[in-house]
Amino acid sequence: MLLPRHGRRFSMDDCIFCKIVKGDIPSIKIYEDEHVFAFMDINPVSEGHALIIPKLHAENLWEISEASLSAVHTASKTIVRAMKKAMGPVSVAAIQLNGKGVNQIVMHYHLHLIPRASDGEALKLTAWEMIPGDMDAINRTGAAIAAAVENDYDQKERK
Ligand code: 5GP
Ligand code: ZN
Repeated sequence: MLLPRHGRRFSMDDCIFCKIVKGDIPSIKIYEDEHVFAFMDINPVSEGHALIIPKLHAENLWEISEASLSAVHTASKTIVRAMKKAMGPVSVAAIQLNGKGVNQIVMHYHLHLIPRASDGEALKLTAWEMIPGDMDAINRTGAAIAAAVENDYDQKERK
């Protein structure tokens, strides 16, 4: 269900990224096709920070259709190629957040493309420390997720 806001149901008319797709809010467009719109982030983590969104509103990875998801990620290949051409040698982080618990702020699915130029500053958000985990806990959680995947797969097969 979509989020209620000011005592009424959230409508896509309230969605800032739907407004960008419609052209009601200006954006610096870098790419568009039938399913996808891509534009520059106005609070860039690094030079070149861009966002790719599906034209059809979906809040997150649970909601987005496979067609939209595939279109967004196919477009990301075109855009990283263009970033390399336009900016010279770059590394690019492709990051996507699902839910307020991981700081998703705009509730319309978006893939961040965050380049780091060869002479650019290191990206803090990708420089996490590697600390070995508890293998028993990793095994247990892995088994629980794998079982849920199996279950999902069986249900799809039965349909
Ligand atoms: P997230 O939801 O993954 O935390 O990030 C939302 C991103 O959308 C942020 O990086 C923010 O800068 C960007 N953003 C929010 N509002 C606008 C806007 O009106 N225009 C553009 N171009 N970017 C926006
Ligand atoms: Zn939207």
